[in-house]
Amino acid sequence: MCGIFGIHGHDEAANIAYLGLHALQHRGQESAGVVAGDRSLRRHVGMGLVSDVFDQKTLGRLPGAAAIGHVRYSTAGSSELRNAQPFLFDYAGGSVAIAHNGNLVNAEELRTRLEAAGSIFQTTSDTEVIVHLMAKVPEFDPVQRLLSALKQVRGAYSLVVLADDRLIGVRDPNGFRPLVIGRLKDGYVLSSETSAFDLIEAEYIRDVEPGELVVVDGGGLRSFRLQTPDDAPTHFCVFEHVYFARPDSLVNGKSVYRAREKMGMRLAEEQPAEADVVIPVPDSGVPSAIGYAKQSGIPFELGLIRSHYVGRTFIEPQDSIRHFGVRLKLSPVRSVVDGKRVVVVDDSLVRGTTSRKIVKMLRAAGAREVHLRISAPPTTNPCYYGIDTPTRSELVAASHSLEEIVRYVTCDSLGYLTHEGMMAAVGAGAAPDGTGCGAGYCSACFTGNYPVPLGKVGSGDLVKLRRDRV
Ligand code: AMP
Repeated sequence: MCGIFGIHGHDEAANIAYLGLHALQHRGQESAGVVAGDRSLRRHVGMGLVSDVFDQKTLGRLPGAAAIGHVRYSTAGSSELRNAQPFLFDYAGGSVAIAHNGNLVNAEELRTRLEAAGSIFQTTSDTEVIVHLMAKVPEFDPVQRLLSALKQVRGAYSLVVLADDRLIGVRDPNGFRPLVIGRLKDGYVLSSETSAFDLIEAEYIRDVEPGELVVVDGGGLRSFRLQTPDDAPTHFCVFEHVYFARPDSLVNGKSVYRAREKMGMRLAEEQPAEADVVIPVPDSGVPSAIGYAKQSGIPFELGLIRSHYVGRTFIEPQDSIRHFGVRLKLSPVRSVVDGKRVVVVDDSLVRGTTSRKIVKMLRAAGAREVHLRISAPPTTNPCYYGIDTPTRSELVAASHSLEEIVRYVTCDSLGYLTHEGMMAAVGAGAAPDGTGCGAGYCSACFTGNYPVPLGKVGSGDLVKLRRDRV
């Protein structure tokens, strides 16, 4: 769960990358970094938010007409400066900088092999594996090196790379994670989401296609195909639409806002409630609550106010802090909920701790009934392709019935959107291959059907991966 950005052909590349990262900040708040330059590259990374990591002085030390940037998502695992991206390495072919969104499922195997052959790793991130693989390719051209390295990795990756005065962008053959191309004056920009383009006033051109590698240099933009089976089906992450991407972005060519609104409308049809008011859990539940209200005819109001001065509560590593964090972040509006039958719409229910807190808060503020509606199916399986979900044992819906969750959350009723409803809302067709995914999407976190085989699959909790997800 990270945001990546790249720019080529702009005098103030590092400044633009900094702005781009601001508009991708929701994709990661643990660390931020930029590498910029022409042939010689310079790097600045730090822990924390983009605005904490950079100032005039640090940006001033990053001259050059090309830059890449990265924001990293906090996980329960190691949150260390050495894992902050972009990475910058020197090898026989020159310097290479890389920023990655996604998760390689065979990184452990590759790393073990590389270490046995003498590679010395500087980070615990799966991304570094790609650089070591590149270094071993007997080619001078960095694009050839990268193409060759990518033949060996499996899993989810959207990458931006700077090497030899070229900006390279690539998406894995299944296209799990997003990457879009834009035009800024005479140059090109790459970004996880179009929200970055809106801020820097770049024009959105198109998505990098699954299995496509684009190279931007003085000659413009060229496109290459990864050498992978032609029939690799697209499996874009549906959770980008459910929760992760910003509502003002287009991802996978579609408006995130409209998809969420449709999820809410469909939810109202599938899971109606007798109620006086519909309220969202802000911010991510807002578009679907609007959809729910529109479809049901129940008035929409803001019954919970979010403080924008605390981070996403989910990222707190300890349970005790997380419980407290919800109270810090959300507070009920008594005049909206007092004496009312309230429908609360949230985008997802993961551990259930947030919802439980919210229901308590709403009752304390006078709500007569609280009907929880979730604009996605139950989250039953961890993601191994780059979204930081907890282990299966922490996912409340993996081991509890609907009634048990209702009792835990203490709501009057609970209703989830069906898988079909969610897929219809994002415009996916019926799954052609019986995997349970809508055509063109990955929904493994809701179904347990993992479209790319995982590394060492154990009997219980699937693979053991490093927790340093990106
Ligand atoms: P929980 O308390 O674990 O049920 O968390 C549910 C809340 O976390 C919902 O309001 C979601 O908006 C949010 N959420 C869902 N998935 C994630 C994720 N992978 N990272 C951060 N927040 C999430």
